[in-house]
Amino acid sequence: MDFDVARVRADFPLLARREGGRPLAYLDSAASAQKPLAVLDAVRGFDAARYANIHRGVYRLSEEATAAFEEARAEVARFLRAPAPRGVVFVRGATEAINLVAASWGSANLRAGDEILLTRLEHHANIVPWQLAAERAGARIVVCPLTARGEVDLAAFARLLGPRTRMAAFAHVSNALGTVNPAAEMTRLAKAAGAAVLIDACQSASHFDIDVAALGCDFLCFSGHKVCGPTGIGVLWGRPGLLDAMPPYQGGGDMIERVAFERTTFRAAPERFEAGTPNITGAIGLAAALRYVSALRPGAHAHEQRLLALATERLSAIPGLRIVGTAPEKVAVVSFVMEGAHPHDIGTLLDADAVAIRVGHHCCMPLMESLGIPGTARASFAFYNTEEEVVRLEQALIRVRRMTAG
Ligand code: PLP
Repeated sequence: MDFDVARVRADFPLLARREGGRPLAYLDSAASAQKPLAVLDAVRGFDAARYANIHRGVYRLSEEATAAFEEARAEVARFLRAPAPRGVVFVRGATEAINLVAASWGSANLRAGDEILLTRLEHHANIVPWQLAAERAGARIVVCPLTARGEVDLAAFARLLGPRTRMAAFAHVSNALGTVNPAAEMTRLAKAAGAAVLIDACQSASHFDIDVAALGCDFLCFSGHKVCGPTGIGVLWGRPGLLDAMPPYQGGGDMIERVAFERTTFRAAPERFEAGTPNITGAIGLAAALRYVSALRPGAHAHEQRLLALATERLSAIPGLRIVGTAPEKVAVVSFVMEGAHPHDIGTLLDADAVAIRVGHHCCMPLMESLGIPGTARASFAFYNTEEEVVRLEQALIRVRRMTAG
């Protein structure tokens, strides 16, 4: 299938931005992706004509808004190939989703001596909530090492699973290195050992199709702003039976059946975990984003893989530059270090060339420490990036090299 990147770019007003007379090369989509008109229009259209608080109104406008919100939930379920919308909980983002599971599932299931298996490439959002939960329960964090190419060491993962492992939580795709983990195989191993599985799909949902049934996991989460949707909205998907067995995370309106000072009873999932007024407009925008990105696949993915191959080839040829994370299965993320140039200096110099990349530890301090580096410079590509932008990155890095070498 042909992928017309020029046509796709026309959907993204921000990509027309110029800096210092040059078009901006936005190469930081792993941090936040830009939004197409389909999302901007859906958000504005909803707020302008259909907005009201949901679930509580008896008047037509509120009922329409409620229907739109619940249709957004159904859209997310379709996006995840989930059997039913009831497994979809709207949250602020992946960070809140993982905190919810660690706190709620953790309080019901973690006991002293239990183990939580993580991997060394996790984002802080998939480390710190588990540390907090482990501390409360007296449980222990176990960390799976990586191979030299930045892949999860599958043999070690299998070895580290044991009778005490209650939870295996891992990223589908590494935000810092771009590695695609064998999530289905890791899930199969963890389930066979009797552990529950949470997949952090923050960096995979934006690049390829997700199928929770095929993955076989218990929980999966992602953030709207990484899939061309709004910020402040994200998804926790959980097996409905499992979610219903978990205690509430936050209390408040909408999540209750009946409130009395003596005793309050709670609704089933997903409402049980959606206390208070949710980000109604965010959910509408997220649904529009999921429809938009789904319609571009699989051409978008193939285009991104071409950008990855080109960037890998061009950047590898720059003297003194070393790509960090060379797994054979990657999304379009290229992390690198350069001799004699601190990542922050690289980022600043590239900014002067209107090339926007991210630098630092990428919220993966334990990963950086194991690699023996303070951080990397990271170019991350979306389907709306072009081969010319890859070349501009290369040329800008050659100038950085000239300025900093010797
Ligand atoms: N997990 C991964 C792999 C990420 O890349 C990110 C964001 O960078 C997060 C979790 C946290 O997402 P958010 O900040 O949207 O909650």
